[in-house]
Formats: sequence, C-alpha cells, structure tokens
Amino acid sequence: MDTSAAQSAIRFSILTLFPDMFAPLEASILGRGRKSGRLDLNLVQIRDHATSRHQHVDDSPFGGGPGMVLKPDILTRALKATVAKSSADAKPHVIYMSPQGSRFQQGDAQRLAQYEHLVLICGRYEGVDERFVDAYVDEELSVGDFVLTGGELPAMMVVDAVSRMIPGVLGDQESAQADSFQTGLLDHPHYTRPAQWADEGLGDETTIRKAPDLLLSGNHGAIEGWRRRQALLRTLIRRPDLLGNAPLSRAEQRLIKALAEDLDVMENQN
Ligand code: SAM
Repeated sequence: MDTSAAQSAIRFSILTLFPDMFAPLEASILGRGRKSGRLDLNLVQIRDHATSRHQHVDDSPFGGGPGMVLKPDILTRALKATVAKSSADAKPHVIYMSPQGSRFQQGDAQRLAQYEHLVLICGRYEGVDERFVDAYVDEELSVGDFVLTGGELPAMMVVDAVSRMIPGVLGDQESAQADSFQTGLLDHPHYTRPAQWADEGLGDETTIRKAPDLLLSGNHGAIEGWRRRQALLRTLIRRPDLLGNAPLSRAEQRLIKALAEDLDVMENQN
C-alpha cells in the first residue's frame, strides 16, 4: 500500500443528528487508532446549532411534496463552529454523504487519507438544502446505488476505509497491501490452521477439507506466484471490469486472455 502521501494523523469531524450512532468506531482497530492519537473523531450535533426555541433543524420543501429538508443556515453554523475549532492548518475538506454523489472506492480512501481534516455531513429526511451544498461542499460521496435513511452509516464506512490508510492504524500495515482493490485486483483466498480440517458439518457427515499443499511448502516464491494467479483468476471470474485498469505484466495479460477464452468455451458448452 502506498501510504507515503497519507497523513500521519487525521481528524474527522462528523456533522450529524445522531452522534450516538458512531459508538462502534470506539471498538477494535479504530479505537486503538484513536487512543494512539492517529485518529481524532469529532462528533458535532447539528441540533446544538439550531436557534429556534424547539431547536428545529429542518423544514418542509419549497414547492411542496413529502418529507423535510435540513436547513442551510443551521448546517452552516455547525460547519463554521467546526472549522473555527480545527487545529489543522489546512482548510478542512468537506464531504456530503449522498446517494447522488460519486461512488466511494478504494482509490478515494487513499486520496482522502492525504487530508489533515475531513468534515463529513450526514443528511437525513429528503437531504440538505442545495444552497448549502453549492456553497460549502467540496465533494459528494455515495456508498452505493441504494437509499439509506441517513448519512451516518455511509460516513462510518468512509471513516473506517480512510483510517486504514493512515500509517500505524493497522497492527500490520503490510496486511492491507494485498487487500482487494488496493492492487487493482481482488485479494487471493486465505487459509489458516488446521491444515487438514475434519469438518463435522451441520449434519452427521464429516468431510476432510485440506488447505492447498503449496501454502505449507515454505517455498515463498511459489506461494507468491500462486497468490497472484489466484487473485487474477478471481478478478477475471468475479470482477472482470477491474482488469482494464489493473497494472498487469505482459505475461499476466497473456494469461488472462487465455483464461478468458477458456471460460468462454466452458460457458458455451453449458
Ligand atoms: N432524497 C434523497 C435522494 O433521493 O437523493 C435521499 C435522502 S436520504 C433518505 C437521507 C440522507 O441519507 C441523505 O441526505 C444522505 O446523507 C444519506 N444517504 C442515503 N443513501 C446514501 C448513500 N447511498 N450514500 C451516501 N449517503 C446516503
């Protein structure tokens, strides 16, 4: 993984109506990253910046129709307070989590890890007033072609994926190197002890399942070659769309072409 351009520490400010939803980020690797000072998570309750007596943060859409819209003045106050408190030198990069944004991918996680301070805006209801987006949002990110009730789960996904790019957050930084998409390919399959597993199954029958012998051979060159071929094969079968952009050697390109032709023949036979 190229973490050379990533920051050594990163601050996430999350503007949300539901800060409690971010409790899972305390657990596991991200919790450790926070304790070690590599990750800083600043949860900003949007409602704290409302000015009306009942702390309204939304209003009905102009032109009529169902749902409510998050008010631009309140979001701006929340953002302004967040920026004012930021210790980072650089201006924060502001992201609105939105199903209409560009699809969040591994390359975005790497790119965003270069910022000192990311501000993630979590919409609710019908979304946020477009004038706020026009005035303050640097980019809109979607986590997929489906609609969730709020931007909190998408924001957590971004925090998790970006945090893994910060050196020292993962116990073993090398482990992310072969992750799916990081190399342009899907990851190879993984096996662990026992080498020979007597799988008692869900019924009465026991099946002996062996890990590939080669992985136990201690021949690191052969193991690397096997892993690379498995990654190529998996990508060809499951996500051929990735192969166009994957950095492949000439020999690998020839191998992929031959395998793709074999798969075509097999498909036509069925
Ligand atoms: N009316 C909006 C539309 O159709 O584009 C959907 C609003 S959605 C119910 C409420 C909020 O959830 C959005 O403002 C956004 O912050 C978040 N959200 C929903 N789906 C999302 C997705 N796929 N990716 C990122 N954020 C999403």
